[in-house]
Amino acid sequence: MQNSKTTEAKIATERSPVVAIMGHIDHGKSTLLSYIRKSKEPLNEAGGITQHISAYEVEHTTKEGKTQSITFIDTPGHEAFSGIRKRGASVADVAVLVVSAEDGVKPQTIEALHSIRDSHTPFIVAINKIDKEGADINKTKQSLAENEVYLEGWGGDIPVVALSAKTGEGVPDLLDMIILVAELENLTGDRNVLASGIVIESNRDTKKGITATCIIKNGTIEKGMYITSGTAIAPVRIMENYLGKQIDKASFSNPIRIIGWDELPVVGDHFDVYDNREKAREAVEAQKEKLANKKSNDHGNIYSEGVLMLPILVKADTGSSLEAVINQIKKLDTETVKPQVISSGIGTITENDIRLATGTLKAIVIGFSVKVDSPAKNLAERNEIEIKTFDIIYKMTEWLEEVIKTKTPKVQKEETTGRAKILKIFSKTKDKQILGGRVENGKIALGAQVKITRRDADIGEGKIRELQQQKSSTDEVREGSEFGAMIVSNIEIAPGDH
Ligand code: GDP
Repeated sequence: MQNSKTTEAKIATERSPVVAIMGHIDHGKSTLLSYIRKSKEPLNEAGGITQHISAYEVEHTTKEGKTQSITFIDTPGHEAFSGIRKRGASVADVAVLVVSAEDGVKPQTIEALHSIRDSHTPFIVAINKIDKEGADINKTKQSLAENEVYLEGWGGDIPVVALSAKTGEGVPDLLDMIILVAELENLTGDRNVLASGIVIESNRDTKKGITATCIIKNGTIEKGMYITSGTAIAPVRIMENYLGKQIDKASFSNPIRIIGWDELPVVGDHFDVYDNREKAREAVEAQKEKLANKKSNDHGNIYSEGVLMLPILVKADTGSSLEAVINQIKKLDTETVKPQVISSGIGTITENDIRLATGTLKAIVIGFSVKVDSPAKNLAERNEIEIKTFDIIYKMTEWLEEVIKTKTPKVQKEETTGRAKILKIFSKTKDKQILGGRVENGKIALGAQVKITRRDADIGEGKIRELQQQKSSTDEVREGSEFGAMIVSNIEIAPGDH
């Protein structure tokens, strides 16, 4: 690519911000996202908006006259954002924390705040619903301060905008503020490198096949290239912009949809672009190998000081059944296997739960009187996460006990019962050898495992399949006695071996 871009002298160019809207349910995230979109979106030829992907771009001119494009991630709630953040990749450059002026800070406001702070994403507080009668901006600011969100003019420097997502009042101020915050962040990108970024949505469509929406964080992608994410790969043949229009080329901060993946990319995973198929294939193969190695190393199990940790994620229909399920799980502790509830919640098992269950700790997902939605099923299948749902607690307990039993490490203790010298080999067919020997000490028994040594060095193992003493079958031969035996072993035993 480099040589085709000689006209572009500047390497690092200003990059427009990618913005995530977060906050408590019903505080107005979707309303705000659709207000911004509708107020800015160009209508297409048919006079309507045809197709949407889960991110969009708008152009905004600030009061100071600066025109800048902004990319909004249009995902329902902040679940996708926190899932993405969990993977260590921060897709958003700026977050907007929406807080209703009627309700103030709520549990998901705090959750969103944790996500924002953990990822060190700069953020703006949007106090919404100021058109409503019950709106109280001061009280809302107060509730924010009580939760250690110190706003501008309230003893801190976190920018705040009061607005109504319904009437649009204050929305231009929010967009101005986003541009200002982004400016301070000094966001830059390089158009001359191959694109990379983050997958924010993926779908399996019966007609189109597998599609994924990606946000480019740096570089350029063009038709004819190849895109990979994890072990998934797609040729860049059908690429659409956020309006669903086919495009040939895209660059940083653009949301794009790529159609034609060979498998479902994982939401929140990083993507890379290659200018030839071979390199892309290599990247995917390397990733597959890495996954295979990881699996064979830990067998999917995590041990801590000899105890097998069994991570479990629980979803239940009510608070009390959740508590009951967790209590039951805690009771199933054994000396060697420790079930551990890593996350719990109420409601349907969603993709976000599966994301939490994925990762280094591969958790079992248990649902109690809840449903599993189909994106969750798909993702679980892809990530080999086991989902089990129950309606009766003891059924769950029984099942878990069985799981624990199969996971309990089989303790192999070696105990020597006796030692015998091989005197003669009578015959050998495949792995069976008939031989004669004398027990030098202890005893040998039918069915016992044997270790074969030659000049005191271990050369292999076997098993005593038949045992005779004075030509009649026996179970045991004691010290000093001679015997005949059939030993199953891959080692060719010789006279003089022990
Ligand atoms: P979300 O769950 O955060 O996405 O919240 P929604 O955008 O779905 O909004 C929840 C409800 O509040 C809807 O009925 C909206 O119409 C309403 N709503 C959102 N913003 C405003 C606002 O600024 N003013 C008024 N009056 N209603 C709003």
